[in-house]
Amino acid sequence: MSKFDTIVLGAGIVGVSVAVHLQKRGRSVALVDIKQPGNGTSFGNAGLIQREGVYPYALPRDLGTLLRYARNKSPDVRYHPDALWKLGPFLWKYWRNSHPHRHASIARAYSTLIEHCVAEHRALANDADAINLLRPTGWIKVFRSDAKRDKETALAERWYREYGVKFEVLDKAGLRQKEPHLDTSLLGGLRYMESESVSDPNALVMAYAKYFTRLGGRFFLGNATTLKENWAVETESGLIASNSVVISMGPWSEQITSRLGYNLPLAVQRGYHMHYAAQSNASLKHPILDVENGYLITPMTRGIRLTTGAELAHRDARKTPTQLSAVEPIARRLFPLGNRIDSEPWMGSRPCTPDMMPIIGPATRHKNLWFAFGHAHHGLTLGAITGRLVAEMVTGEPLVTDPYPFRLERFKV
Ligand SMILES: Cc1cc2nc3c(=O)[nH]c(=O)nc-3n(C[C@H](O)[C@H](O)[C@H](O)COP(=O)(O)OP(=O)(O)OC[C@H]3O[C@@H](n4cnc5c(N)ncnc54)[C@H](O)[C@@H]3O)c2cc1C
Repeated sequence: MSKFDTIVLGAGIVGVSVAVHLQKRGRSVALVDIKQPGNGTSFGNAGLIQREGVYPYALPRDLGTLLRYARNKSPDVRYHPDALWKLGPFLWKYWRNSHPHRHASIARAYSTLIEHCVAEHRALANDADAINLLRPTGWIKVFRSDAKRDKETALAERWYREYGVKFEVLDKAGLRQKEPHLDTSLLGGLRYMESESVSDPNALVMAYAKYFTRLGGRFFLGNATTLKENWAVETESGLIASNSVVISMGPWSEQITSRLGYNLPLAVQRGYHMHYAAQSNASLKHPILDVENGYLITPMTRGIRLTTGAELAHRDARKTPTQLSAVEPIARRLFPLGNRIDSEPWMGSRPCTPDMMPIIGPATRHKNLWFAFGHAHHGLTLGAITGRLVAEMVTGEPLVTDPYPFRLERFKV
C-alpha cells in the first residue's frame, strides 16, 4: 500500500490546484478522480477568470423577474418543477442572502478571494507552461436597450467605487471596433479589462495536472466513495493511504461529506454548452455576454462556445437543454455562427451554497479532513487561489487571505 501526506479527492480545477500547491510545498500528494483530470464541471465552463466578480451571483428579488422565472420560459433561468420541493429550503436561504444588505456584506468577504484570482492563475499557469491558454483581453457585456445599459453601467460604477474594479464603456463605434462581426444594432457594451479568459478550460486543468506530476505528485483513477476514515482510498492501482484528505469534488462533494455525517446545504445550478463554427471570415476576440438573454459566446480552441445560464434541477436528472435551443437563434443574430460542432450539448453542474461563497477549510468533526468546494459560478476563477489557500492552511504557513468567511461552521452542520 502506498502512503502519502495528503490525498486530494477530485481533479477539477479546484482539486488540481490544491494538489499542485501542496506538492510544491514539499508534501507527498495523491490526486484521485474517477476520470482523467478536468472532465467534470471544469471541462465545459465559459472560461472566464472574473476579477470583476466581487459580488457573487444573487437571486433577483424584484417581483417582475421572479414572475418571469416562475413561468419557466426565461432563457437565463429555468427549473425542473419536480426538483423545487427539494430545492425549496436552499432557494429560500439563497433568496434571503440576496437581500441587498446581506449581498453587500457577502461581497466584502468574497472580494478578498476574488482579488487574487488573476494573479494566482497567472503564477500557476506560468509554472505549468500554460500561460498561452490565458487571454488578458477582458470580457464584454453587450446591450440592446438603454434601460439595461444604464442599469449595468450603474452597477459597474458601484463595483469601481467599492472595490476599484476597472471597466471601459464602449459606445456603438467602440464596440464595433473591438468586435466588428457582432450585430450592428447593439447599443454598446462594457468591458471588464482586468478579467481574463481561458481558450480551453480542460487544457488548463490538464496542464496544471501535468505540472503536479512533474513535481513528483501521483494521479490515481479511483472512486472517492471507497474513502475510509484515517485515511485510505481504493484506486485502480490498489489501496492508498494518507495522513490527511482534501475533498474537492465540486458538485459531487456531498457524496462523501454526507457519509461522514455533514448535512450541508448544497445544491447545483446546471448549465450547458455547444460549440459552433464561425461563418466564412467572421471572428470573435472576446467573451461576449448577451445580458438581456442570459447566455455567453466565447472563442475557444474547439470553436465558438455558447454557454447557458442556470437550470435548477437535480444534479443527476436527465439533460433538458431547452435554454440552449431558446438562445441559439438569438446568438445567431448576435454573431454569424455556423454549424454546431458537438454531437450533443454538454452539461455541467455549478456546485452552490446558499450564501454564494465556497466552503474552504478544516472539517469540524474529523481531524486532518479539509473541504474545498461550492465555488458555484466562479470555480474556474477561484481555483488557483483556493489551491494556494488550502495548501497554506494544511501546512500551517502564513495565509494569503483570511479564510474565516469561508469556514464550514457558518452553516449549522
Ligand atoms: C455552463 C457553465 C459555465 C461556467 N462558466 C464559468 C466561468 O466562466 N468562470 C468560472 O469561474 N466558473 C464557471 N463555471 C463554474 C465552474 O465551472 C465550476 O465552479 C468549477 O468547474 C468547479 O470546479 P471543481 O474543481 O470544484 O469541480 P469539478 O470540475 O466538477 O471537479 C470535481 C471532480 O470530482 C470528480 N468526481 C466526482 N465523483 C467522484 C468520485 N466518486 N470519485 C472520484 N472523483 C469523483 C469528477 O470527475 C471531477 O473531476 C461555469 C459552470 C458551468 C456549468
